[in-house]
Amino acid sequence: MNRPPLKPLDDALADLLAHAAPLAETETLSLFDADHRVLARDVVSPLQVPPRDNSAMDGYALRSADVAQAGAVLPVSQRIPAGHAGTALAAGTAARIFTGAPVPEGADAIVMQEDCTPLDGERVQINAVPPVGQWIRRSGEDIVRGSTVLTAGTRLGPPELGLAASVGLAQVVVARRPRVALFSTGDELVMPGTVPPEQMRPGAIYNSNRFFLRSMLERLGCEVTDLGVVPDRLDATVAALAHAAERCDVIVTSGGVSVGEEDHVKPAVQQLGGLDLWKIAIKPGKPFAYGYVRSGERRAHFMGLPGNPVSSFITFALLVRPFLLKLQGMVDVAHKAVAATAGFDWDKAEKRREFLRVRWGADGRLQRFANQSSGVLTSTVWADGVVDNPPGTRIASGDTVRYIPLSELLA
Ligand code: AMP
Ligand code: MG
Repeated sequence: MNRPPLKPLDDALADLLAHAAPLAETETLSLFDADHRVLARDVVSPLQVPPRDNSAMDGYALRSADVAQAGAVLPVSQRIPAGHAGTALAAGTAARIFTGAPVPEGADAIVMQEDCTPLDGERVQINAVPPVGQWIRRSGEDIVRGSTVLTAGTRLGPPELGLAASVGLAQVVVARRPRVALFSTGDELVMPGTVPPEQMRPGAIYNSNRFFLRSMLERLGCEVTDLGVVPDRLDATVAALAHAAERCDVIVTSGGVSVGEEDHVKPAVQQLGGLDLWKIAIKPGKPFAYGYVRSGERRAHFMGLPGNPVSSFITFALLVRPFLLKLQGMVDVAHKAVAATAGFDWDKAEKRREFLRVRWGADGRLQRFANQSSGVLTSTVWADGVVDNPPGTRIASGDTVRYIPLSELLA
């Protein structure tokens, strides 16, 4: 029998992203609630930051022309703490000034207090000749009024929220949350908390995928409809899909996408819409399904993940995550990778592109988790990242490899 060739990951991702038309609806959120969300409108600054020229030092504001040489003595005509505006600086005088305070009109330099000697409370000796502009932070040095400080399609995190607040915004317009239905398939699955470990029937396992998939979906800003576990029956799978498609944008499932007799996801999705079953050339991973489920006039995207926990985790991170971000209008959805030095050997020249669970060692080199099997979730806890290893590539200690921090895949 002729088996179709495996699909390269980059082709699968490009195909998927081509289907991820950004959601049109937006919502306006308080900055307090906008973490992780994707901006739907540019943020344009209505003001200059800093708003006025201000002092970068505690010291004295003066006209540099009034200090012809070091040791010049000037009367102190005013005192300007931060948060207070002084008055125009009289010629031939200095103003006591503090960091952040507005530079008074007429002053063109600040001399730091370490270069000054206060004489009798009313006069100050200036011990260094200041160049014009010294220690003045200029108005608009950070942000010019009318400039775009954050562009639509940017995902908001702590720095972006701080910047939006610094130009006076209390709210931002973001893409609405994608509505995602999630269910696991597998008659062997038991929910933790329902059966104690010592009473598990033979063959039963706890449903772990549900928990990390739901957590990852929530971190991606999705509103999750969790349909729990669906039994390995065609009618039950069809019913769950039909229900999910009624109001969700995306249906994510785990398990049942191989083509075994107990894998009902494929025929169920085909009955209600369409499906491509892909064998992706990655390890762990491989089986992955993309399609759609119709509900009246609307269509929900369908994404079927493999059941093996690490496969499920990796395919979610590499394929579903960028899809959900693009759905929210995020422009740059690619994760970042860095070059790193392997501190381990890997002799298997695997035909598929492999994602090895690794972590930094104290010597600044990557260590590999001993058991790289796709069912071993401990590897994902032990690891702080994965090595993205090209097909057919052996690794020797000292080689440069491509490292993707888990933080890039989970955030
Ligand atoms: P499947 O893709 O349905 O053939 O499942 C592949 C393997 O992953 C089997 O050993 C399943 O028991 C396991 N598995 C499937 N779903 C889950 C789940 N939600 N949590 C933990 N393991 C699972
Ligand atoms: Mg199964």
